[in-house]
Amino acid sequence: MFCDFASPKAVTMTREELREYHLYHLQRLLERVYANSAFYRKLWANAGLHPEHIKTLDDFTRLVPMVTKQDFLADQNSSPPYGQRLAVSEEEICQVHLTSGTSGIGQEVYALTRDDISLEAQGWVIHLRSIGLKPGDVSIVTWPVATMAAALNVYEACREIGVNAFLVGIYDGETKIKLMQRFDMNHLVATPTYVSRLAVLCQEMGLNPSQAFGNLKAISVAAESYPANWLEEMEAVWGCPIHDVYGSTQNATALGMTCQTRRSAGEGGGTRRNMHLFEHLTFVEAIDYESGEPVSYGAEGELVLTPLFRQATPVIRFRTGDKVILYPGQTCSCGSQFDFLEAGTIARFDDMIKIKAANVWPQTVDDIIFSYKEVEEYNGVVSIDEKGRENVRVLLEFRDGVPEGTKASLMKQVGERIRQKTQVTMIVEEVPRGTLERTLFKSRRWVDRRQEGLRQVVRYLEK
Ligand SMILES: [Zn+2]
Repeated sequence: MFCDFASPKAVTMTREELREYHLYHLQRLLERVYANSAFYRKLWANAGLHPEHIKTLDDFTRLVPMVTKQDFLADQNSSPPYGQRLAVSEEEICQVHLTSGTSGIGQEVYALTRDDISLEAQGWVIHLRSIGLKPGDVSIVTWPVATMAAALNVYEACREIGVNAFLVGIYDGETKIKLMQRFDMNHLVATPTYVSRLAVLCQEMGLNPSQAFGNLKAISVAAESYPANWLEEMEAVWGCPIHDVYGSTQNATALGMTCQTRRSAGEGGGTRRNMHLFEHLTFVEAIDYESGEPVSYGAEGELVLTPLFRQATPVIRFRTGDKVILYPGQTCSCGSQFDFLEAGTIARFDDMIKIKAANVWPQTVDDIIFSYKEVEEYNGVVSIDEKGRENVRVLLEFRDGVPEGTKASLMKQVGERIRQKTQVTMIVEEVPRGTLERTLFKSRRWVDRRQEGLRQVVRYLEK
């Protein structure tokens, strides 16, 4: 096995021990990848870098070039399907993860070996154990199971510790709730939006979640931001703690999870939780988005990842585009040494929007819509209604003189093409010409009203 990362020792290292551990594993990683991956060999040769040059962690962050999604896509396009970053033989690949969406921006391909599959479980294993799940407990996983990493990570972790995972993503809400009752669930995995939606559905079915699921130990959410207070309010509705897990396909496994510490969210009230990062699995940096220089604790930066043990598709200094603030682990009262960020507030440097756990780039929708010369402008609105239903509306303005029949068929085509490219269903509607604001900035075409929506759902449940 490549690392004893599940041992209690690994998660109780001091910062000093952790620095030595990082240097040791980063050096091994660079040697292995240099020997096996033509993509990285070329990238580093262009930067005049050989793994032997890395003697300290500072050398690593100063000398090793960062990589982006575009670098990986270019590599895949020139050497399909895995790219030259593949560092194992194809016979060793036994699972593949694709990032969400099938857009022009592209889906990254991540190959996994058997060791990678054990690694993919690790972050969630730590999380599931920390919230008290035991062999035989029933976990209801509502995320779609396909080629996306998220649900598979949870599933592998459940298998490893003997938790009975029900992958219910394909069922409608009512069927999911019936399964939760029938098998007396102990754990629920969902996006924050869907936790709200399920609470409303329960109410419509005459169920009070905190009574109907008396053996529910915890809910784990991921993939979306939420308003301060939302966790506490939903915890009251469901009668159990809600934890937040941070993940990323590039990282191979969960990146971190919240501890029990709650601190004031500042203005506007409520509390926020600390999301500690699994630094024994991943080397994490925060950099200035413009200059690429490291930022200090407490300053906003872009998260850069190097999973230490990824085998088939190594990821070395990957710029995630996630906007975070890192804090030193020791400043949290829970006793973890691992650095943390503020849960529920992770934003993006680019204009990517997470919708129903899928990553959607406005550019993808722009490309589809503006391929029709009849359309003059559009806006996208992501919202949650008071019953917790997530809606995406695409509002189109047509040019003068487009016949009504043409408009109708065009709107239908636009909706279908968007669904094919993004895997998200969007409602396409016409608005009168001149309604929409014109802007030079593409991302301003999109408005995300989900946080106010989540607050509305809480008020609706209180009625
Ligand atoms: Zn903590």
